[in-house]
Amino acid sequence: SLSGKRALVTGSTSGIGLAVARAMHAEGAEVILNGFGEDKAIAALREEMGGATHFDTDLTDVAAVEAMMADAGPVDILVNNAGMQHVSAVEDFPTDKWNLIIALNLTAAFHTTRLAVPSMKEKGWGRIINTASAHSKTASPFKSAYNASKHGIDGFTKTIALELAQTGVTANCISPGYVWTPLIEGQIPDTMTARGLSREEVINDVLLAKQPTKKFVQPNEIGALAVFLCREEAGNVTGANWSIDGGWTAE
Ligand code: NAD
Repeated sequence: SLSGKRALVTGSTSGIGLAVARAMHAEGAEVILNGFGEDKAIAALREEMGGATHFDTDLTDVAAVEAMMADAGPVDILVNNAGMQHVSAVEDFPTDKWNLIIALNLTAAFHTTRLAVPSMKEKGWGRIINTASAHSKTASPFKSAYNASKHGIDGFTKTIALELAQTGVTANCISPGYVWTPLIEGQIPDTMTARGLSREEVINDVLLAKQPTKKFVQPNEIGALAVFLCREEAGNVTGANWSIDGGWTAE
C-alpha cells in the first residue's frame, strides 16, 4: 500500500500520467496532479482522486516549477512524466520546438528532482520515476528532439540513482513502446506527411510494426509498473530503465 505517501505526477491530466496517478491513488497515495486541461475535466479528476491538489504549472518555466514544488511541499514519490513530441526531418525541425521538447521532456525533470530530493534524503525514502520511452534506447527517424531528450533522461536517471544509492531513494525510468494516448494520435498526421503514408499505414506499418505483440501498450499497464517500483520490494531496483514495449527493444 502507498498510504501515507505523497505522489506528484507531472502531466497527469491525460494519457499515461493520468493512469499512473489513478494507480497510485488506488493504492492509497495522496496524489498531486499537474498538467493542462479544461477546468471542468480537471475538477472531475481532482474529485475522482480524493480532492487531489492540481497545479496547471507549465513545466518549461523554471520559476513556475520552483513555485509549484514549494507549494506542493515534500513529496515521497516524484513521477516526471509530462512530455511532448514533434515529428519533422532534422533540416526542417523548428528551433523553438527543439528547445521546448528538451525543456519539457528533460530539463523539467532536473528541476523537479533537484527540488524534491532534499526532503526524500531527510526521510530516508523516496521514489523517482521518469517516463522515458523505447526512444530512450533506440531511435526512429524524424524525432530528433524527442529521441535526444529521452536518451538524456535515461542518463540523468542513472546518474541520480548512483548519487542517491545509499539514501533509500531510488530512481528509474519506465520506457513504453506505443501507448494509445492523445500524444500518439497527434503525431499521426505529421507522420503521414513525413513518410507519405495513409493513416492506416502509419498505424500498422510504422507504429505497430515496431511492436512484436502487435498491440498498443495500455496506460494502466504503465500505472501497475509504476506502483511496483514504489513498493518496499523494489528498494534494490534503481538506475534501471524498464521496457514495457511489446518486445520492441528486444529486436
Ligand atoms: P499526453 O499528451 O496524453 O499527456 C501529456 C501530459 O503532459 C498532459 O497532462 C499535458 O497537459 C501535460 N503537459 C504537456 N505540456 C506540458 C507542460 N509544458 N507543462 C506541464 N504539463 C504539460 O501524452 P502521453 O502519451 O500520456 O505521454 C506521457 C509521457 O509518456 C511523455 O513523456 C511521453 O513522451 C511518454 N511516452 C509516451 C508514449 C506513447 O506511446 N504515448 C510512448 C513512450 C513514452
